[in-house]
Amino acid sequence: MHPSEQTIFALSSGRLPAAIAIVRISGPQSSAVLSALCGRVPSPRLATRCLLKSQAGEPIDDAMVLWFPGPASATGEDVAELHIHGSRAVLAALIGELSTFEQLRPAEPGEFTRRAFENGKIDLTGAEALDDLIHADTDQQRRQALRQLQGLLGDRARAWRQQIIEAAALIEASIDFSDEGDVPDELQAPAFAKIAALAAEIGEVLTAQHHGERLRDGLVVAIVGRPNVGKSTLINQLARREVAIVSPHAGTTRDVIEVHLDLGGYPVTVIDTAGIRDTLDAVEQEGVRRAQARAADADLVLWLADDDDEMPPAIGSDQVVVWRVRNKIDLQSEAGARADGNLSAASQSFAISAKQGEGVAALVGAIGEFAGNYFGAGETTLISRQRHRDLLQQTVQMLQCSIADRDRGEELVAEDLRSASRALGRLLGQIDVEDLLDVIFSEFCIGK
Ligand code: GDP
Ligand code: ZN
Repeated sequence: MHPSEQTIFALSSGRLPAAIAIVRISGPQSSAVLSALCGRVPSPRLATRCLLKSQAGEPIDDAMVLWFPGPASATGEDVAELHIHGSRAVLAALIGELSTFEQLRPAEPGEFTRRAFENGKIDLTGAEALDDLIHADTDQQRRQALRQLQGLLGDRARAWRQQIIEAAALIEASIDFSDEGDVPDELQAPAFAKIAALAAEIGEVLTAQHHGERLRDGLVVAIVGRPNVGKSTLINQLARREVAIVSPHAGTTRDVIEVHLDLGGYPVTVIDTAGIRDTLDAVEQEGVRRAQARAADADLVLWLADDDDEMPPAIGSDQVVVWRVRNKIDLQSEAGARADGNLSAASQSFAISAKQGEGVAALVGAIGEFAGNYFGAGETTLISRQRHRDLLQQTVQMLQCSIADRDRGEELVAEDLRSASRALGRLLGQIDVEDLLDVIFSEFCIGK
């Protein structure tokens, strides 16, 4: 039996114990399993209470059951959902029972979503979006993932692909004409106009920089400065500000290396570059390696100093924005501190006491504003992954080739257009993506 014809099951809800746990079953055996467990198959899509029993007649749990006959189900196959009491013992008893059924096996990570994809319920951008939605930490991440799930990019890509196919049909029609020695320009001209307009349209989507890719991982803010200026103190101060925090990633027992903030719905990761240090601990080493890679690629650098005269060194790329943050204002005279307090966000200069928290709220507020501008508040972005960007770039490139190849013959033009259409097909997961699928779906959790 092909693996995709097997019936799979998994716990689809979160960590136990919980009030309720949801076990999903998908595949041709779903109805047989349901009728064995409940004594009957409930009405489709109707929440039905039922006492689950083992095949030996032993009660397992008093449960709520849902029956979704395919293809009108999440995976496109027959699906059963068992809402059980969320204890380890109930789950263990149910899983134990399910394991006694032949042709039933535990699902692999992402296998439900993969089946939904393979049965045409969602395209690849939708599958990616589902994963993003499950992992969304902030409100803007949630919004973007939901828009993608609803076809923001997928629908556009499908429409573009259709237009390319239509243009290709016009070009190929003129190949037939040219056999008779006469290539009618009236046929080709509109096709090329269409191709040029399409290349421009996709090009615009690519240049509209709303940083959708960064929305997945967070805007990166690196704290840089001499030893002892207070970098660790600042990051620990940020980590203590529980209102803003998503998850502090502590470098085991020592300083926090990075904090993840939710600023106005935008994810922001602040990295202490001094936390990047030699360590023998393997877990910590991995954290350090990641922090290093991300700091090198920072969007905003906070140059922390405790002396007015210090100037930031050349940091990262030319485009990176550097803000000067003077620390330890609590150590200065009243007058001096007040003067520094007048340095506003507009001048990209701040004065704080990382230790006592003074000025930190203003700094965080300014970073939030920076994030809002960076992501383009309220605007939608079609591109949420590098994969999308690469394939749209390829599409534009092949469309431009087809225009450049106009004088070199219709066959060449038609081949260019096929390549452009193929790039969009890959984006949607319609063709040539076998190699990609294992990578994408293995990132999912089990039960999704
Ligand atoms: P790092 O090497 O840049 O990470 O600096 P640390 O955060 O380890 O701080 C070095 C020293 O400066 C520590 O003793 C901190 O307590 C102290 N420090 C940090 N920020 C402040 C501050 O705002 N005011 C005062 N008075 N001391 C501070
Ligand atoms: Zn430090």
